[in-house]
Amino acid sequence: MTNSFRRWIFFKAGMPLLYAFGLAARIDRERLQGLLININNRLVRKTWKGPVTRLLLMLPHCIQRSECKVRITFDVNNCERCGKCPVAEFIDVSERKNLKLSVATGGGIARRTVDKIRPDAVVAVACERDLISGIRDIYPVPALGILNERPFGPCFNTRVDVDTVIDAITFFAG
Ligand code: SF4
Repeated sequence: MTNSFRRWIFFKAGMPLLYAFGLAARIDRERLQGLLININNRLVRKTWKGPVTRLLLMLPHCIQRSECKVRITFDVNNCERCGKCPVAEFIDVSERKNLKLSVATGGGIARRTVDKIRPDAVVAVACERDLISGIRDIYPVPALGILNERPFGPCFNTRVDVDTVIDAITFFAG
């Protein structure tokens, strides 16, 4: 079975079936989505051969500090790099690794960004729901999904393990 066929099977049959069975078995929706993101990530890591000339890192808007007044969704370079949230660090990483960085307020904007940039691969940070729908929507572009942490509840001052994101970037971009 070729690598692209394996991914096709997973996206067209495996993922919808597992999701339907999981819901029927009353598995918690978020847990189920997390499981599917995990399977996707393993599959991408196993099958992706590269090369990547255009890698896109997508961050959720809620990773920005709530009190920050700078508008980074239009242009992430508006960030003043105060260091109060991880955005500054990710700008540094994107410059070092020469990758595209985008901050999205929702699935629609994220999809439009992918249509515009046309990346070879994506590293995306978001919650379970946004990640699973985003990964599905941008198929066949390979995406590694990383779950955000929500110590203050959903969509507010969320966090992410920076090393995990860098590891995913390094997987694609070296
Ligand atoms: S690092 Fe950038 S986005 Fe984050 S709080 Fe500071 S200025 Fe705002």
